[in-house]
Amino acid sequence: MRKTKEKEHYLKEIYRLETASEIVSVSCLSKVLGVSKSSVSNMIKKLVSMDLLNSAPYKAIEFTSEGRKLARTIVAKHRLIELFLVEIMEFQPESVHDIAEEIEHIESPAFFRKVQKMLNNRDTDPHGSPIPDVKF
Ligand SMILES: [Zn+2]
Repeated sequence: MRKTKEKEHYLKEIYRLETASEIVSVSCLSKVLGVSKSSVSNMIKKLVSMDLLNSAPYKAIEFTSEGRKLARTIVAKHRLIELFLVEIMEFQPESVHDIAEEIEHIESPAFFRKVQKMLNNRDTDPHGSPIPDVKF
């Protein structure tokens, strides 16, 4: 996995767990991401050094405000794309996740502003999850 892609994948998963009110730990991330605990620890260390996460022994992993902002942006991109694929491109809802996983890594804010506009700023993805309100 490319570096940025991997980082974004972690942030997205942590956001998902946090929204589900789950305690975020190395072992739970290792389980949901299907990678070893030592890889998870390494990545968490990196994200802490980038000031995106806070982590201390025996405490849950948490976002910094910067980290949460970035995670919300990635999740919004993913869910907007899923909605776009269903509403505009007429894909079936069950087939859009994997495509969104690829498209969500596009940087261009202009692209996502356009997508939001084309969807009339709708706030729920095709699977019923809320799309974080993000200004691109
Ligand atoms: Zn998805």
